[in-house]
Amino acid sequence: MKKMLKGFTLVEIMIVVAIIAILAAVAIPNFIKYRRSSQATACVSNLKQIQAAKEQCLMAGKELSTDNLFGATGYVKVEPHCPAQMTVSYTIGDATTDPSCSYSQTDADDTSTWHSLNRAATSSGT
Ligand SMILES: [Zn+2]
Repeated sequence: MKKMLKGFTLVEIMIVVAIIAILAAVAIPNFIKYRRSSQATACVSNLKQIQAAKEQCLMAGKELSTDNLFGATGYVKVEPHCPAQMTVSYTIGDATTDPSCSYSQTDADDTSTWHSLNRAATSSGT
């Protein structure tokens, strides 16, 4: 009498692994895209906060500098950093220029990944 073994055959396991690989191949590029998009959104939010702090600083008649803008005595308690590049600080700019992020995006056509205050102005109009 032949004993019946329980378990999966090699072909069944290979089919399951192939399905998981296909799902991962579809999902991972989207995860990367959404991550870049959310980092850019957070960066634009930081830039808006810096712009508001600059305007408050100018209204108070103070000189625009990181010491006056950030810190316990400034208008933003903690100096923000770009979420895509935590080591680099933002360029504050002067009274007539917007603050900017030095992070260079590789996908220049996709406006949802721009780290620029101009992105908010162009995307909100459409
Ligand atoms: Zn940025």
